[in-house]
Amino acid sequence: MEYRIGQGYDVHALAAGLPMWLGGIRIPSENGFVAHSDGDVAIHALCDALLGALALGDIGHLFPDTDDRWKGVDSKELLAAVLALPAFAGWEVVNADITIALQAPKLAPHIEAMRRTLASVMGIAPDRVSVKATTTERLGFVGRGEGCEVWAIVLIARK
Ligand code: MG
Repeated sequence: MEYRIGQGYDVHALAAGLPMWLGGIRIPSENGFVAHSDGDVAIHALCDALLGALALGDIGHLFPDTDDRWKGVDSKELLAAVLALPAFAGWEVVNADITIALQAPKLAPHIEAMRRTLASVMGIAPDRVSVKATTTERLGFVGRGEGCEVWAIVLIARK
């Protein structure tokens, strides 16, 4: 069996009055992410992990923020587009592990919905998708509520 591993990292700034999309779902919050797309920083990190597994570059390269086609786009569409790349034919996602650092709101009530949603877009069972959330104990830009940081790791296997 041939396996590949990939990791992805992304950061988005928070701003008042924007919708918060994270892990493919809408999170009730007074702040949302500043972005060209819907700002789903968790999906962006996941996309970069998938692209990294096959050394295909990053989503900024694939979906440039200078292209109006991607303005306000639902990041679930970006995730689906990554997996629809010809290079992914013959590969399947074994599992994904995502860590979200966000000071507020608390994400615990939304973790299961994120896992189900991301698994469904990737066409795998939810027990193959881990979503973990942490604060940074009020330290750094995350702790000051200025932004959100996400790390993702994926394993893919040749079918
Ligand atoms: Mg991003």
